[in-house]
Amino acid sequence: MDLKYEKKDAIEFIKSKKDMDEYIERYIDFLNYAKTEYRAAKFAENMLKENGFVDINSKKKLKTGDKVYFVNNEKSIYAAIIGKDELKDGLNIVGAHIDSPRLDLKPMPLYEKHHAGLLKTQYYGGIKKYQWTTIPLAMYGVIYNEDGKKIEIEVGEGENDPCFTITDLLPHLAREQMKLGANEFIDPEKLVVLVGSLKSDDKETEKVKNSVKRNILKLLNKKYGIKEIDFARSEISLVPAFRARYVGFDYSLVGGYGQDDRSCAYASLEALCKQKGLNQKTAVIMLVDKEEIGSVGNTSMSSNIFDLFITKLIKLKGEEDTSILEVYYNSKMLSADVSTLVDPSYDEVSDIQNGNILGCGIALEKYTGSGGKYSASDANAKYVSEVMQIFEKNNIAFQLGTLGKIEKGGGGTIAYILAEKGVNVIDCGPGVLCMHSPFEITSSSDLYMTTKAYDAFLRA
Ligand code: MN
Ligand code: MN
Repeated sequence: MDLKYEKKDAIEFIKSKKDMDEYIERYIDFLNYAKTEYRAAKFAENMLKENGFVDINSKKKLKTGDKVYFVNNEKSIYAAIIGKDELKDGLNIVGAHIDSPRLDLKPMPLYEKHHAGLLKTQYYGGIKKYQWTTIPLAMYGVIYNEDGKKIEIEVGEGENDPCFTITDLLPHLAREQMKLGANEFIDPEKLVVLVGSLKSDDKETEKVKNSVKRNILKLLNKKYGIKEIDFARSEISLVPAFRARYVGFDYSLVGGYGQDDRSCAYASLEALCKQKGLNQKTAVIMLVDKEEIGSVGNTSMSSNIFDLFITKLIKLKGEEDTSILEVYYNSKMLSADVSTLVDPSYDEVSDIQNGNILGCGIALEKYTGSGGKYSASDANAKYVSEVMQIFEKNNIAFQLGTLGKIEKGGGGTIAYILAEKGVNVIDCGPGVLCMHSPFEITSSSDLYMTTKAYDAFLRA
């Protein structure tokens, strides 16, 4: 009898290589489309509709097998398949986030300096600022004009689109800059985006002074019908302008922006859409916004809008006597978020024995937090055991990593928010290398295991 635990190669758990390859193709398409939470929510809504889900607001009542979704302010979405059990017997929930670190435009972003047209940004989420300079950037978002009409912005990745970029000093003149620590040498106020260099050519009058800024405003007005003030009623983000793609001679890895946490978002979407037959428990997924800035705001996990969705389920199901707290108390959840992988070049920050290794399956993270488990969402042993049994029964490759060495840093997910509602929850997602960088790396076999794990959990 072999008593010791050893990590296993996730590839050994995969029955159909073809099925995995097709999944990765679909996942890469999703990453390339869903570069903002708006687009991820839109993609999810379309995919849910294609799979028979309907807007919960169009339902008069709900019965076993019904499939519904709820879109919250275009930026987060919840979906459910009603199971045979009553809601008060608990839900099986998989929750991921669809926002990723990026650069947002400031409310009044446009200016001109030394013949360059520039846009001021404020970074969103935890980034290493230097990674975002000197790369091609694309612009996505929404802007409202003075009549309140919504205009969608999408520039930087079409075949004939220009892209944008942020300048950085040449090494020849960077002697002083290079002495600074990595967190200081890019001043956040210098994360300005280069967007043009031609002056307008209006016939000059006393009122109109030709400038690069004016030319850009004219181009924007021509294309979108907007004025400078309209930037104040916009949400526009700069994201890497390159496509997700395979990495490695063996094509075994996926490189791309936003895999934290769209890898889990996509995995849970497919897992829910592919549920077959009638489940015992009501299966729920949620794709939420604002995780990267601390889960604050009405589209984040902290908002009560998820409660509103569950309240609607209770009411439409005709379980008026059920309290939402009872539903939560009996529910179980996977907080579907990525974990870190032991980086072969920086393994000194990891406790290898308790780290996640590339290609060894989905990471089950008992607790998050930092130092003395501060702010940790720490799953109880009974619940860890339940989840492990689900994975073992369903031939899911999983590993049991923590984020890194105890005082090297830390982090958290949406898990604690559901834990506070009384849900049993554990973090569970693929490991990522270069997390929060413009080009995050995952393993295809880990990604495939992730959707298989969520599928098994939702129907457990
Ligand atoms: Mn995340
Ligand atoms: Mn993150």
